[in-house]
Amino acid sequence: MKFYIKTFGCQMNERDSEKVQGILSNSGWSEALSPEEADLIVVNSCAVREKAEQKIYSEIGRIKNKNRKATVVAMGCVAQINPSKLKQVADVVVGTNTIDTFFNIAKNGARGVFIKENMDNPDYIFPHVENITAFVDIMYGCDNFCTYCIVPFTRGREISRKKESIIEEIKKLVDMGTKEVMLLGQNVNSYGKNFDYNFVELLYEVNKIEGLERIRFTTSHPKDFSKELIIAMRDLEKVCEHIHLPLQSGSNKILKLMRRRYTKEEYLEKVYLFKDIVKEGSITTDIIVGFPQETVEDFEETLRVVEEVKYDTSFSFKYSKRPYTKAKDMDGQVDEKEKLRRLNILQALQAEITQRRLNEYVGRVQEVLVEGVSKRGNQLFGRNRQNIVVNFDFMDNIKKGDIVRVEITKALKHSLLGKLSG
Ligand code: SF4
Repeated sequence: MKFYIKTFGCQMNERDSEKVQGILSNSGWSEALSPEEADLIVVNSCAVREKAEQKIYSEIGRIKNKNRKATVVAMGCVAQINPSKLKQVADVVVGTNTIDTFFNIAKNGARGVFIKENMDNPDYIFPHVENITAFVDIMYGCDNFCTYCIVPFTRGREISRKKESIIEEIKKLVDMGTKEVMLLGQNVNSYGKNFDYNFVELLYEVNKIEGLERIRFTTSHPKDFSKELIIAMRDLEKVCEHIHLPLQSGSNKILKLMRRRYTKEEYLEKVYLFKDIVKEGSITTDIIVGFPQETVEDFEETLRVVEEVKYDTSFSFKYSKRPYTKAKDMDGQVDEKEKLRRLNILQALQAEITQRRLNEYVGRVQEVLVEGVSKRGNQLFGRNRQNIVVNFDFMDNIKKGDIVRVEITKALKHSLLGKLSG
């Protein structure tokens, strides 16, 4: 029997799809190269913006046209909040807290709707696919209820996994050849709330694991981004010098309406602390434009923060109304055309800054973890500790998983080019 998985959305979804891939493979299924060949087709959905949500319906329609005999499973965030609508187009609906249903689907061909508010066992270690890098969930859900965000409704209440199960999972990964782990959570900095330890303590534990070369983590909430964490990023040799710190807006008025619980000044203070303590530190961010009541002046405050921080890159989006969230009913909704105008201005500014930041690497030697062959197939690629992709020419004795020194010779639009250095 063959399966095919189509994934939309964030790294959490990518990890969930990998869990499904592992469960099905361990149950004797094999992966199909295309939906046409599959007996079971899984579509992992994203609900973060309206456009993303619509994608699952059009994708299922497209798949059914190509392959009428396959069983279609809709999973992910849209499944969690809209199971009955999805059940009209899919054979099985699996929510974000019931991934273990796939054992039953694989073995017994289970059908129906499988949705739960909470996971039965958040410490269960799901299978991983062998790779140099791996995503490791350290917690699930979010309690912050930012007024634009659907995640607390799709992923439920915040719950941290026990550090013992996380450490055991990472040790298993290292035995499988993994060199780098990305610790995942909606707000990793509040890890451990349901235990008497915290994220910084977890990092010190993970840093002790032999054979592991690199540690990354995402996503951090600025309100919980502490001096202790910044110092740990400086002192722990395996923790990479990159932080993803979503700003969302540079206007205090809008930050308040978003219920982000920090001000622009508090955010900048933490950014300067990070830049001061973590040498070579890289910062990236998320920004929403066109949030309700955002004026041109508010938007310009966002632009000024972007210019001041000089992010290596940023992920920016137009505000999108989401069900259950407070912001969808707020007055002062911004016109779509105006949202697009602001988005284009922001992305043009960021593109300039990114190019300037990348140019600063030319002539310098970077430590790169080799992840494989580049998309064009003519070079090797990996990422430096700042999470920037580096491409360089093949060398016989260099293989996936090696850590090499690369002298940067050129900055491209989103990545770096280099040559191996002694
Ligand atoms: S912290 Fe992140 S995931 Fe949680 S509600 Fe806010 S934006 Fe959403």
